Amino acid sequence: MKPGIKLIISGPSGAGKGTVINRMLKRLAELGEEVYLSISMTTRYMREGEVDGVSYYFTDKPSFERLLEEKGLLEHNCYNGEYYGTPAAPAEEAFAAGKIVLFDIDINGGRQIRERYSDAVTAFLIPPEFSLLEERLKGRGTETEDKIRHRLEIARGEYAAAADYDYVVVNDTIDDAVDELLSIIAAERCRMSRREKLLRI
Ligand code: 5GP
Repeated sequence: MKPGIKLIISGPSGAGKGTVINRMLKRLAELGEEVYLSISMTTRYMREGEVDGVSYYFTDKPSFERLLEEKGLLEHNCYNGEYYGTPAAPAEEAFAAGKIVLFDIDINGGRQIRERYSDAVTAFLIPPEFSLLEERLKGRGTETEDKIRHRLEIARGEYAAAADYDYVVVNDTIDDAVDELLSIIAAERCRMSRREKLLRI
């Protein structure tokens, strides 16, 4: 059996993570891979087109804080004034089943998961030019000017903080970005630490 992989995909808001991850899920399914995309919990408002339990589990602050106290989250962060966190139980189940587990979370959350699981792999997804982020966020039309400005400020900080990530993936075309992410999975599976057993002859 191929070893499971914990892959954290972070990147600034507007980098196209959602689109890339959706295409990646399709490609992995075509390859017959067992994949689980972690669904985060958030207190932010639901954007048009989002579905509760699919895009996120939408909740309120007291419920989020309760889950946090009960240690029901693998990691969490406060972003743009709202909570985001990764529910522990489904992710742990997917690890145990040896699946490829994808996390679409920010750098802060990525670090927390890596502290817990030293075998987690981190990839930072960026657009070819920083200026494209503003264009994409404005094009999305879901945020006020103020929120967009704040997201861009956060993005600057994320670029500076991404140096400890394992990989940088440039989202020039979606297919190229997905190819790079699939190559990362393939390479990570060949790591000595994951294949040591094969050397015991
Ligand atoms: P958005 O509001 O655009 O959906 O997400 C804002 C940021 O929160 C993105 O960078 C996204 O990757 C991050 N995010 C989403 N879910 C989680 C989570 O469960 N934990 C953490 N730490 N960040 C998350």
